[in-house]
Amino acid sequence: MVKLAAIVSDFDDTLFFSKKAISYAANELYKITKENKNTSINNFDIKKLELIMAEGKVPHGFDKSFKNELYTLAYTKYSNMLIPNTSIIKYIKEVSNKDLDLIILSARGEEFRDKTEEALISNGLKAEKVILPNNHDLSDEHWKYLKLKELVKDYSHIILFEDKEENIKYISSRLGNEIIEFYLVEGNTLKRMQ
Ligand SMILES: [Mg+2]
Repeated sequence: MVKLAAIVSDFDDTLFFSKKAISYAANELYKITKENKNTSINNFDIKKLELIMAEGKVPHGFDKSFKNELYTLAYTKYSNMLIPNTSIIKYIKEVSNKDLDLIILSARGEEFRDKTEEALISNGLKAEKVILPNNHDLSDEHWKYLKLKELVKDYSHIILFEDKEENIKYISSRLGNEIIEFYLVEGNTLKRMQ
């Protein structure tokens, strides 16, 4: 049976701002590195680590295994540093009803399911499904596109919330905007994308 509609939402920097958690995680890794307990990081990445501490954003080209350590700290130990995007969460709660499912589509990884669901529940969000990747073999945008390609078979209408414009462009150029309505989340505002 085809259901009426779903809000498909990204998690990090869409429903929850993760800059603070990432910044704390970078700070901890920085300390470990300075104390020489972590020898896998090179000088190039130390500079980037300083940047992450300041901005709470992971730049492209950052060492992959180190990136995993960083996200693991941010999404587990510092998960309580996530800041809810209250206006978007409030909006979702207001429009949710039995004909509108909430589906979380996040590339953060299956290993963070418990903490992800915990954050949703403690903020009163009831998700029908939380979709996370088992690995990071595919690029985030391609993985999301493949999952949405499956979801459009189950729903006649999808409202997509995502904070990365490049992800929206990648998905909309492949799936079109007949079934999916794309919204770019910029802080606490939603911007309709064509
Ligand atoms: Mg995001």
